[in-house]
Amino acid sequence: MYKRTHTCGELRKDHIDETIHLNGWVNTVRLHGQVIFIDLRDRYGKTQIVFNSEDYNGDFVAVKKLSMEDVLSIKGTVQSRSEGAVNPDMSTGEIEVAVDSMELLSETAPLPFVITDRESALEDLRLKYRYLELRTDELQKNILTRHKTYQAVRSYLSDNNFVEIETPTLMKSTPEGARDFLVPSRIHHGKFYALPQSPQLYKQILMISGFDRYFQIVKCFRDEDFRADRQPEFTQIDVEMSFVDEEDIYSNMEGLTRHIFKELNDVDLPDPFPRITYADALAKYGSDKPDTRYELFLNDVKEFTDRSEFNAFKSAESVKAIVLPGGAKYSRKIIDGLTDFVKKYKAKGLTWMKGENGKLSGGIAKFFDENLQSDLIHATEIKDGDIIFIIGDEKTVVEPALGALRVEIAKREGLADPNIYKPLWVTSFPMFEYDEVENRYTAMHHPFTAPHQDDIEKLETDPASVLSRGYDLTMNGHEIAGGSIRIHSPEIQNKVFSLLGLSLEDAKEKFGFLVEALTYGAPPHGGIAFGFDRLVMILTGSNNIRDVIAFPKTTSAVSLMDDAPNTVSSQQLNELGIQIKPDKN
Ligand code: ASP
Repeated sequence: MYKRTHTCGELRKDHIDETIHLNGWVNTVRLHGQVIFIDLRDRYGKTQIVFNSEDYNGDFVAVKKLSMEDVLSIKGTVQSRSEGAVNPDMSTGEIEVAVDSMELLSETAPLPFVITDRESALEDLRLKYRYLELRTDELQKNILTRHKTYQAVRSYLSDNNFVEIETPTLMKSTPEGARDFLVPSRIHHGKFYALPQSPQLYKQILMISGFDRYFQIVKCFRDEDFRADRQPEFTQIDVEMSFVDEEDIYSNMEGLTRHIFKELNDVDLPDPFPRITYADALAKYGSDKPDTRYELFLNDVKEFTDRSEFNAFKSAESVKAIVLPGGAKYSRKIIDGLTDFVKKYKAKGLTWMKGENGKLSGGIAKFFDENLQSDLIHATEIKDGDIIFIIGDEKTVVEPALGALRVEIAKREGLADPNIYKPLWVTSFPMFEYDEVENRYTAMHHPFTAPHQDDIEKLETDPASVLSRGYDLTMNGHEIAGGSIRIHSPEIQNKVFSLLGLSLEDAKEKFGFLVEALTYGAPPHGGIAFGFDRLVMILTGSNNIRDVIAFPKTTSAVSLMDDAPNTVSSQQLNELGIQIKPDKN
């Protein structure tokens, strides 16, 4: 093998006349009779190499047989390209290498898909041959962005006194919300470890141990059902700080986020980041992760529908609308499609009217007399050529359904500029959600989140109205991080467990070590975790979480490349004392 003297992205005009060696993959082959052009590729770039039957010392027939993805090592001389052949899109586009001799290091089997064209195969096939798909420019770029993001996170946090500490992957099952992945213990028959849903308990305990600024880039595991943008194992930037309140978390994490976006994308994010309360976010955007790159705000129009002859909304708790400028162009068919869309969000239907000659027309316009039309036009600023979409129902239906419609319309109309990044803190979440099925409260964030100081009294009298000290960092309609100031008093922690329907016994059994640790001098503390994969998606502009993970699972939690999960031998099961029931149910 001619060991490489340069990479395939390195040669420039300055190297002309030098004898060099390159190693790489055949990206493309072009045969021109007695001259063969190959783009040789490695992760640094591509270089055009030329085999000319007159100058080439080896077997020209063997060169003719080369195909895409064969691995070569070549020796040759750098020469300038003839004028018309210069390729300004290639960093090596001014030169080419006249090959003197070549060694075929590895011949490829017939390829299952064309590496230069990801779209040439369905995703399942690409995932089965993930090592081939990882050769594509797009995934090489994504993985490098991911690498640089790790480095940016580590350098920023380390420079700011955060200590990187690993926490165990085999831990005790401590339900935090999602279902745990379990690992049976061989040594302790009948006992199980759980894979961490997050290092939540460990990082709080590290605060009690005095490591007042902790971070970790860590794998987390949640055994949740099918969801397109979720992975059963995913990565978090996990952070915890002592002697802090919300402001300290915000300023440190804004610093981190600004640093990442500057380093990776040369983008200057605002300083400080804007904030919105959970209630306002829902009222204005219909979402707790609003995309603030465009307007399309939700308007309350109940007073107008109440005055109309349209009766369906009279008993509705909430009636809200969004106005789409220029939306009168929407055909009946498009509106029907949007109606089906909002039904997925539990809305019973989607009513509408269009602005025309200073009045409203179509849809439910006939139920609004002239005065009322003019009041509604005035209040919502509908212009001729606009459309107003209205939904009336329970507030918990209206806001999310219109919020989803807002995002869908923005997508259709191309309102979200992919080059703009709009961070936004969402604050003042409710502490609890009521689970109608289980007939009990569940924690909106997790059971270790502190209630607002002013609301502690209400924990017993009116839990539904208690706000928490939780916060989310959102960007462009995605939640990129979430966290909270924690409870550091064992009494309040026990009270919250009992509100969540955990008996003292259960709580002791599940989280006793944390509650005990809280009794030995716990500093006030709080933290946050960033969804690392989501962050890299935003940085790379990808819209598929699998595109930023080297070896992802499918939406049904399968790894198509190595066929995990899979059966194990009966000997392995015996050692664990486990017997598989013939049918799961
Ligand atoms: N452990 C939390 C989570 O994974 C984040 C936090 O509260 O720091 O969502």
